[in-house]
Amino acid sequence: MSRIVYVNGEFLPEEDAKISIFDRGFLFADGVYEVSTVLQGKLVDNEAHLVRLQRSLNELSMTAPCSMKEIEEIQHELLKRNDIKAGSLYLQITRGSEGDRSFLFPKNAKPSLIMFTQARGAHSEETAEKGISVITQPDIRWQRRDIKTVGLLPASMAKQAAIDAGVDDAWMVEDGYVTEGSSNNAHIITKDGVLVTRPLSNKILHGITRKAVLALADEAGLKVEERLFTPQEASEAAEAFITSASTFVTPVVAIDGAPVGDGVPGKHAKRLRELYVEFAIKSLS
Ligand code: PMP
Repeated sequence: MSRIVYVNGEFLPEEDAKISIFDRGFLFADGVYEVSTVLQGKLVDNEAHLVRLQRSLNELSMTAPCSMKEIEEIQHELLKRNDIKAGSLYLQITRGSEGDRSFLFPKNAKPSLIMFTQARGAHSEETAEKGISVITQPDIRWQRRDIKTVGLLPASMAKQAAIDAGVDDAWMVEDGYVTEGSSNNAHIITKDGVLVTRPLSNKILHGITRKAVLALADEAGLKVEERLFTPQEASEAAEAFITSASTFVTPVVAIDGAPVGDGVPGKHAKRLRELYVEFAIKSLS
């Protein structure tokens, strides 16, 4: 059965949804997006995602075609129409187009808003129980990684390189330091119980899950240090893990072929995941 998707004011079967070939999202990657996780038919920490969406729009001098309140209503209507209980909801706003290809921001274009649901949830318990292995890759992305744009080709290339190397994901490295994972934030836990994570800047996406997990660190008995760390320090750490809306907290058990800690998911990452899942359920809307 085909999905019902949302495109510019209409709920349609996915095969009937259309966007102009002149849309700047298509021609210039001139668009922003958000992915909210669906649990029990509701959205996890969705308000924070909409706040970040508004920030991404502001940073690009782009306007949404409707208010955030209306976006939220469309999200809920889409969940209802697809009767989805677990998975994710993707939403994207692009600058639209005036019907020609032009580098200048169009003055009279109407932005496009699309949304679709995905039944597949990557936040699998099975993956979290086994942990994932990563390789490091040079971070070849642009300098505004804090804006959640649809320009995801470097991230896609990094992830593909990881799969081709027989592992699960890639951690990107710039000037000798880990920036983040291909589609997640990267963290380590030192042998003396300090959660080390890169500070917020234009070098990384300001993860919604990262923020929630840092707020839970104290309850997990961990101190937090926001500072840079190298792949070497990560390999020698007690534990490593990633966070994202779709993977929650997922342990990293090997980096570039070398085991992290005992090479199995550690107790701190497990505890953080449990606490995050409790938080996620409380945050449902
Ligand atoms: N960094 C990057 C590059 C990402 O694509 C994502 C996924 N959106 C994240 C971090 C994690 O962000 P969040 O916790 O908001 O999903």
